[in-house]
Amino acid sequence: MSERCQSCGSCGMAMRLVEDFGGAHRGNRYCVHCSDREGNLAVTYERVVSYFAEDFEKRRGLNPTRARELAEACVSALPAWSSR
Ligand SMILES: [Zn+2]
Repeated sequence: MSERCQSCGSCGMAMRLVEDFGGAHRGNRYCVHCSDREGNLAVTYERVVSYFAEDFEKRRGLNPTRARELAEACVSALPAWSSR
């Protein structure tokens, strides 16, 4: 049995435990934070960008404008949003 590290198609979070997967369904493309109880994508691009921007501001000490730019660049590259 091979173990692969999967990451969420919406926010990029690494999913290892079954509880990390949306709908607690291993193999789901989205993590528990990005999906509803059935495991369907339940967040918007805007929400994921805000989440990233906040994180960059807090952890990297970026100013809000720079944090926002960086967040948009990161989130746009993720599978759920790349064809937006
Ligand atoms: Zn996610």
